Amino acid sequence: MMSGIMHNYAVFSESAMDFTKIYCNCGRFVDIDSKALLLKQLLHKPIECSHCRNFRISQELASFNEARDSEEVIAYY
Ligand SMILES: [Zn+2]
Repeated sequence: MMSGIMHNYAVFSESAMDFTKIYCNCGRFVDIDSKALLLKQLLHKPIECSHCRNFRISQELASFNEARDSEEVIAYY
């Protein structure tokens, strides 16, 4: 019985070590997957929390739609 509990604890601490705490520009401390963080650093992608990521993606989508709309207007005239 004891060995089973010890084993579960070891698994839990191993998975907890896969996360790194980062400080985002918005002031939030967030846990990020260490492998994902390494990949972001390799690809020079911004390291940010999920709130900022979602906000950035929605902004990018909005500007994309604006650009597409103005192109349609130009094409119409
Ligand atoms: Zn943030």
